[in-house]
Amino acid sequence: MPDTDEHSAPPQALDVIVIGAGIAGIYAVHKLRGLGFSVQALEAGDGVGGTWYWNRYPGCRVDIQSIEFSYSFSDDIQQSWDWSETMADQPELERYLNFVADRLDIRRHIQLNTRVTALTYDDSGACWTVRTEAGDEFAAQFVVCATGCLSEPLAPPIPGLETFAGQILYTSRFPAQGFDFTGKRVAVVGTGSSGVQAIPVIAEQAADLYVMQRSAAYTRPSPNRALAQPEWEQMKAGYADVRAQERASFAGTIYFPILPTPGSPPLTKRVVDSTPEERRQAIDELGWDAPWSWADVLENLEANAYAGEMYAELIRRVVVDPETAAALIPTYPVGCKRVIIENGYYQSFNRENVHLVDLKKGAITSIEPAGIQTEQDFFELDVLVFATGFDAMTGALTRMDITGRGGRTLREFWAAEGPVTYLGLQVEGFPNLFTVSGPGSPSVRSNMFQSIEQHVEFIAGALEYLRDKGCRVIEPRPGAADEWTSYAATLVNSTIMEADSCNSWFLGANIPGKKRVFMPYFGGLFSYRERCEDIVRADYEGFELSEPDAEGSTG
Ligand code: NAP
Repeated sequence: MPDTDEHSAPPQALDVIVIGAGIAGIYAVHKLRGLGFSVQALEAGDGVGGTWYWNRYPGCRVDIQSIEFSYSFSDDIQQSWDWSETMADQPELERYLNFVADRLDIRRHIQLNTRVTALTYDDSGACWTVRTEAGDEFAAQFVVCATGCLSEPLAPPIPGLETFAGQILYTSRFPAQGFDFTGKRVAVVGTGSSGVQAIPVIAEQAADLYVMQRSAAYTRPSPNRALAQPEWEQMKAGYADVRAQERASFAGTIYFPILPTPGSPPLTKRVVDSTPEERRQAIDELGWDAPWSWADVLENLEANAYAGEMYAELIRRVVVDPETAAALIPTYPVGCKRVIIENGYYQSFNRENVHLVDLKKGAITSIEPAGIQTEQDFFELDVLVFATGFDAMTGALTRMDITGRGGRTLREFWAAEGPVTYLGLQVEGFPNLFTVSGPGSPSVRSNMFQSIEQHVEFIAGALEYLRDKGCRVIEPRPGAADEWTSYAATLVNSTIMEADSCNSWFLGANIPGKKRVFMPYFGGLFSYRERCEDIVRADYEGFELSEPDAEGSTG
């Protein structure tokens, strides 16, 4: 394999192209370069950071603890970075990822402002041709798609959008310099995590804020607070222990706000056995922890409905106007969508300048030059903010023209079959192509940093193994991906995650026509990692390692 630092090497000399320079891309470049592979990352943005580069909307903040939402592979990095809050905001996370890129000295391997549009596999040479929007071509033996799970934004198909005379903003592409909403009439469309985080901040500036809600969200207040230096120093000294606990945990995280704090006794009480008085008492004593203080809330719809009632009561206790409070109460199972960690969301609706527009009572019909028309009203606006979500898990992959063996495209394959993968890492018929946090892996159902590190390390290990064996091609064996995807489906079948009343992006249900499949692996990162380790010990069981042959088959 050629030397890694040779930028002057011809493109076909590359071992690996990494697409994306977010959390996954940064680590992949570092890890693969360290193993002696020539590697080049191509990044659409003009900076590194991925999700934490693009989503610069006001209020954007991570929903697990900063100490956990960070790389664990380097103690030098852990010890050299200071978090200022327990749950970092977007600017701090973007600074962190830039700091890591510098510390690892990987910027010379990252080409910014380069959007990949097409990948084509050449069977005879076991090589991918990678094309960019600017028309450039690269060639590499392997491609690692570090393209993110929530990176392909959804532009709402609302007629007249292009006619709007004011400013249109997307939370997922928010201007780097920010935006001053002072004195403006603003609408936020969408009340998922992005909208719920942005609304309280915009509410403080806007003259009038219209919150256009199609589905109400389950939220809970963020426990975020400032971290004073002495406390942080003490936490930093305990990193080894934190990482060990993370690795032993279900989802690679120990301090997730809706989970019991570490060390607390396991939940034993069942809400289906509780009395109304006991549930009321739980709300009085535990507040927003109350719906999560029972063992069976996620077990079945009956138990879940009790948790929903507790949520309703909690919302009514904060939101003063009864009609607004009623409209803010969600109508789908608790926990089947991501529970949102918010900062003053419900309190915003007690402000005189914030108006909830319940789109269930009258959908948006068009956008006009002066504002939004719904079935019931017209809203005059200066600014439209879309927080309408993403084509999650698969969108960043299928938006590229990825053509594998025999001319089959990934887009067509997944549109017909759903996102069939082996371990969320590879797709049959697309040799030498890897997806980091692909569908079928724990990804968004886990601490993303932990999952990404595990995937990057698996891919790096596989490439090393291949090199040692003198092979050039790795792909799933026939049937391995079907088997894995079917197995993953059994873990989530008949849980509340797949309830008919749930239209989560986990299921692809936010995209009309997308195959309804629960995309992330539901069994947790711990068991997934163990399975991957078993597979490696069994000489990459389920993968086929081979040489390309002239017939175009790797037999
Ligand atoms: P989202 O959860 O998919 O929410 C999109 C919102 O837009 C929903 O309320 C949806 O309503 C609404 N919507 C979509 N199209 C619409 C239309 N045409 N008209 C009216 N409303 C429309 O997207 P997101 O808020 O960006 O969050 C996505 C995920 O990113 C989160 O679940 C989370 O995993 C991650 N995230 C995390 C954080 C964090 O960690 N703090 C912050 C932001 C995002 P329906 O529900 O009715 O479709």
